[in-house]
Amino acid sequence: MTDSTANENSYDLLVLGAGSGGVRAARMAASYGARVAVIENRFLGGTCVNVGCVPKKLFVYGSHFAEEFSDAQGYGWQLPKAEFDWPTLRDNKTREIERLNGVYASLLDGAGVERVWGTARFVDAHNVAVDDRVLYGKRILIATGGRPTLPEFDGQEHALVSDDLFYLERLPRRAVVVGGGYIGVEFAGILHGLGVESTLLYRGELFLRGFDRTIREFVRAELEQKGIALRFETNVTAIDAGPEGKRVQLTDGTELEVDAAIFATGRVPNTDQLNLSVTQVALGDRGEILIDEQYQTNVPHIYALGDVTDRVQLTPVAIAEAMVLTNNLYTDNPKRVLDYDNIPTAVFCQPNIGTVGLTEEEAAAQFGTLRVYESNFRPMKYTLTSNSERSLMKLIVNDADDRVVGVHMAGPDAGEIIQGIAIAVKAGLTKADFDQTIGIHPTAAEEFVTMRAERA
Ligand code: NDP
Repeated sequence: MTDSTANENSYDLLVLGAGSGGVRAARMAASYGARVAVIENRFLGGTCVNVGCVPKKLFVYGSHFAEEFSDAQGYGWQLPKAEFDWPTLRDNKTREIERLNGVYASLLDGAGVERVWGTARFVDAHNVAVDDRVLYGKRILIATGGRPTLPEFDGQEHALVSDDLFYLERLPRRAVVVGGGYIGVEFAGILHGLGVESTLLYRGELFLRGFDRTIREFVRAELEQKGIALRFETNVTAIDAGPEGKRVQLTDGTELEVDAAIFATGRVPNTDQLNLSVTQVALGDRGEILIDEQYQTNVPHIYALGDVTDRVQLTPVAIAEAMVLTNNLYTDNPKRVLDYDNIPTAVFCQPNIGTVGLTEEEAAAQFGTLRVYESNFRPMKYTLTSNSERSLMKLIVNDADDRVVGVHMAGPDAGEIIQGIAIAVKAGLTKADFDQTIGIHPTAAEEFVTMRAERA
């Protein structure tokens, strides 16, 4: 194959995958003057826009109305019994996603990026085939993301994954969600709020592994109190279709009968269709592309970022990686390396979790003596209602230098609140800095600047 720069199929940068990271990298590279094409076979905007963050958050809003209607009565609103119509939510969501697909198309077109529709397969290390066209990339960026994966068990054909939930023909009456990560707890909350009899099943002793223990225990209590059935230390061995629905057999010898079994048991990188073997690009055990801190694979002109590298699977991280990569490749600005410390994150379970920095367990291992501040309270909004949901806030301080090294919250708008707090943690501010900040009253967030007493 040629590397002729005059050839219309020849690009400075070929981006495989038009998800969050790929689109940002393509747009930025083009804005710096590179000739760029992005190849996509499914949808513009990738997982986040189509079957992830965006539709999920819309569903979280949709499902939370159940509580809002009930809470409204305490404020004097007499409402007729609310009826929920699943096709309305599903189809309105789909229309919004299609609008966003259009926005992504315009952003790429506006930046001068060529969009190529189809599945990319490497022909050799510089050339990629899409149907009967072959595109040459002086550099190639793999940003093909990931997809849900199922464990092995009999009756896998009866299982659904997160992608399916966004397009269900009808809402199940009873559902089990398998998996105790982000997606599992978020989906269990969505389904429960929409009126589905929901069970969340997790193989370990307590879900949300990796999050602060206090938060995990608090969320367990809140989900149980709301009526989600939690089944821990058990797993699925088989699913078969019975007369009344799907029978889910469990390792503890019991059985669940449901209308939908939704698996949120992790995601795997999309590398298997790329024909990567012709490139010598090295993969890890899970099929992830191995890269260095400049997103470079072992083949110097091939790069990768985002979920396909199976590191931090978060949209804002993929976007930040794309910004660093394109800065370093296509500008004369000083070279950058992304700092992966103190990445804030939210889990949109109900109540939401927001977190930044270290868990108490990690901080204790790293620093030794800590000061921990906690506040567990009934949000003001619920005081006039029968809603018994509580909020939890937790500050972890390194005693040696007074720095706040971890902040965790479960409660309404936790993601919104922690985003602001994350700036302070990233900046390395101390508990004294927090204490000197005046609170905004009355808010929940003011708790973070008014915590005086250490946890006993
Ligand atoms: P996670 O890796 O977070 O969680 C997977 C869950 O499935 C874990 O509880 C895991 O258990 C369990 N599991 C894994 N394998 C098996 C198995 N063989 N049998 C039974 N259970 C199993 O993956 P998710 O799919 O929830 O989410 C993927 C990623 O997407 C997240 O890590 C996150 O980065 C991102 N995401 C972010 C969101 C946000 O920012 N709000 C929302 C949704 C996703 P164990 O703990 O024992 O390993």
